[in-house]
Amino acid sequence: MHLNNSTGGNVRTLPARKDASADRQQAAADDAELARDERNEAIAERVTFDVLPFSADQIAVLDAALRRGYIEDVYEVWNMCRGVLKAEIARRVAAADLAAVAPRFAMTTCSSCGSELGPGNSGVSSCSDHGAPALRRLRGA
Ligand SMILES: [Zn+2]
Repeated sequence: MHLNNSTGGNVRTLPARKDASADRQQAAADDAELARDERNEAIAERVTFDVLPFSADQIAVLDAALRRGYIEDVYEVWNMCRGVLKAEIARRVAAADLAAVAPRFAMTTCSSCGSELGPGNSGVSSCSDHGAPALRRLRGA
């Protein structure tokens, strides 16, 4: 009787916990997406005309168009500038994405025993922080 009640209670509470966990995960994903959007906007703002990486050929086309001064060239000039702007923003966003996932250090270590702990963003100061056997010990064994 007591067991049945307790089991019934678990059945009722489990889906709610699952929902709360899913909500938290969704909220974290939303926050991450928002942060990425804001970062991308900041990246885009820094890509001003003076830093656009025009190729020598593109510069020549722009220069010729400006010298001719024909209104017919406006679309070509405009499209070329827009294209280079978009490509440079996309390149910088991709580089920032890569930097965000790549570990900061190629090799981290434990400062107590000196064990090499593999790539990561920081090392550890105490052996109790690396539960798994360190790489150096594995190689030595
Ligand atoms: Zn250690």
